[in-house]
Amino acid sequence: MICHIHKLSLISRKTKFGIRHACPEDGCSVVCWDGSTSTPADLETRQARMKAHTAFDEIWKSGRIKRTKLYKLLAKHLGKKSKDTHIGHFDKETAIKVVKFAKNFWRKEREAKKCEKT
Ligand SMILES: [Zn+2]
Repeated sequence: MICHIHKLSLISRKTKFGIRHACPEDGCSVVCWDGSTSTPADLETRQARMKAHTAFDEIWKSGRIKRTKLYKLLAKHLGKKSKDTHIGHFDKETAIKVVKFAKNFWRKEREAKKCEKT
């Protein structure tokens, strides 16, 4: 794995959370965790991905929709294939879109509830 900013090989280190690969350049925030669920990203991107994950997980954890179905909806929303829809692979802009997608979901939920009542 390579830091896309410095074109340097990431250095792997064992941590209590698993293997962490980081750019050796001083002050560079590009980090990647082991496994295929994430790609190397700078701090801003990782924070955006984290927000996206929190917003996304909140929906399916509420039990209103199945996780797999929600992933399909998100894929459709982003114009991606389901198999390419991994928040850990997204760039910052796409991660922000996920947060908006989540907000939209809750807004539609609220509107649907209003309709049920009347
Ligand atoms: Zn770097």
